[in-house]
Amino acid sequence: MNWRTSSRKPSGQFRFFPFAGLFLICALSPSAAAQTCGAQGVAAQVLGSGGPELEDKRASSSYLVWQDGQARVLVDAGGGSALRFGESGAKMSQLDVLLFSHFHVDHSADFPALIKSSWFEDRTRPLPIYGPPGNDFMPATTEFVADFFGARRGAYRYLSELLAADEEGSYKMQPHDVVAGTLPIAVFHSGNLALLAVRVVHGSVPALAWRVELAGKVIVFSGDTSGEGEGLVRLAANADLFIAHNAVPEGAVGIERRLHMPPSVIGQIAADAHVKNLVLSHRMLRTLGKEEQTQSEIKRRYSGPLQFANDLDCFPLR
Ligand SMILES: [Zn+2]
Repeated sequence: MNWRTSSRKPSGQFRFFPFAGLFLICALSPSAAAQTCGAQGVAAQVLGSGGPELEDKRASSSYLVWQDGQARVLVDAGGGSALRFGESGAKMSQLDVLLFSHFHVDHSADFPALIKSSWFEDRTRPLPIYGPPGNDFMPATTEFVADFFGARRGAYRYLSELLAADEEGSYKMQPHDVVAGTLPIAVFHSGNLALLAVRVVHGSVPALAWRVELAGKVIVFSGDTSGEGEGLVRLAANADLFIAHNAVPEGAVGIERRLHMPPSVIGQIAADAHVKNLVLSHRMLRTLGKEEQTQSEIKRRYSGPLQFANDLDCFPLR
């Protein structure tokens, strides 16, 4: 497997570049590198490698899955990701499907910006949108979409033609609430693309982890989760690439730990699931700068390749 990174982050953060020359080349041409992501075969691109904090100078959580120059799946749309989407060279009209892990701001805030952009493109086929069901604290996926685009009460009701079946003028979003348990369920299947999900524990927030199977390659997105339960290990079984969220350092306690996986848990899940490659994303101020400690905790349990993600990094699956 040939791993490429676009390396657009400032210095002082942990890197895996063995040669200074390679770093220099990458640092000089991040956009050029990014826009070639997925030109041939299947690749995952990190649009947002950060968490909710703007001080991390990263877009919040968002990922693209590419195949042969087409951006086919978008997973989450945190703040800043719409700009990264444009920088990646992707088009909204290319997407087969949009997935949400959950509806915290850092996973969903740029959703209306992406949809508004799509209005200017030549898209006619529907856009399926899948995400978790709701509870007393969080909207269901169908509610979340209607909260923006619903004809009567939506904040952006002026764009309701994107949602209302009886309004003419544009393609339609098709939101769905995915009720999953700890056994992976098949959510979507079209041609060489299949999507599976499990419910994961993220405090009281309904949350999903996603498995994208595309043209014989498997990419699994943990989303935000404490790592409790067997669902994520099952979902990630034998994945070519597992993108896990590095939101807390080893030793985290309290609410941070109840919401997120420390490195030891990420390493154990990666090992138990026999994933072939591990990428850490959703990097936050509390984990940035602790990469060596994080890597060593993971390496005690998981012996495969490990990379830390930066915005627009591209991971081809060969
Ligand atoms: Zn998050």
